[in-house]
Amino acid sequence: MNRASLCLLPGALAALCLLASPAARAFEATQQRGSVTLRYQDAHDALPEAMRQRIIDTFYFAYLRERADFHPKAPADVRIVIDPAYNGVAYVGDKDKATTITINPGWLLQHPDDIDLVTHEAMHIVQGYPSYGDTRVPGWLVEGIADYARDRYGTDNAAAGWALPDKVGKGQSVESGYRVTGAFLKWAEAGHPGLVLALDKALRNGQYTLALWQQHTGKGLPALWAEYAKPRSDAPPPAPARGGKR
Ligand SMILES: [Zn+2]
Repeated sequence: MNRASLCLLPGALAALCLLASPAARAFEATQQRGSVTLRYQDAHDALPEAMRQRIIDTFYFAYLRERADFHPKAPADVRIVIDPAYNGVAYVGDKDKATTITINPGWLLQHPDDIDLVTHEAMHIVQGYPSYGDTRVPGWLVEGIADYARDRYGTDNAAAGWALPDKVGKGQSVESGYRVTGAFLKWAEAGHPGLVLALDKALRNGQYTLALWQQHTGKGLPALWAEYAKPRSDAPPPAPARGGKR
């Protein structure tokens, strides 16, 4: 019998169990809140209980809201895998990993307040787009929406010193992605409510085109970005003094 199956009690509100093995203690827990079931797996028991609980609580807070607001048919069965072999921060993959958030425990142990990385990753599951990083599904927009969601649904961004920027830095563009694009989306959404929802839906359906920006805001993307960026960019350096060589 698969020992792990002992932990999977469907319908249980909170089925927790500890699996002891000679090599390492594996922790696995299955929870259900609302209509969403979460399987949490930490094969090496790399994170302490308090952190585990914080991850699970943050996941449910964000995912239930992101899912309800953007894509109620998003997966109802989700996994969080704690993987010490993963060198990045966290990710949601494609295909069989499209419903799995993989987290590097080392990052969270060093940055325990960065808990809303879970909020960003949970949005990637809600997004569930058919591809990533092409003209139909530009990576900068996918990451911009995920950081827009981290700002909107995050529970403790301030503690992590995480915020959407209120300035546009030198060399940044709408295609910078992540927080840069997230801040732009927040501004654009305030002026054109429903814009982010429409972008998200089009990306999921494979129907995203630049024309969408024009349709929903009355402006092309370059013009919209310019309107946003101009007052948020540092003034250009003063023109060189006239005179001198003639
Ligand atoms: Zn991301």
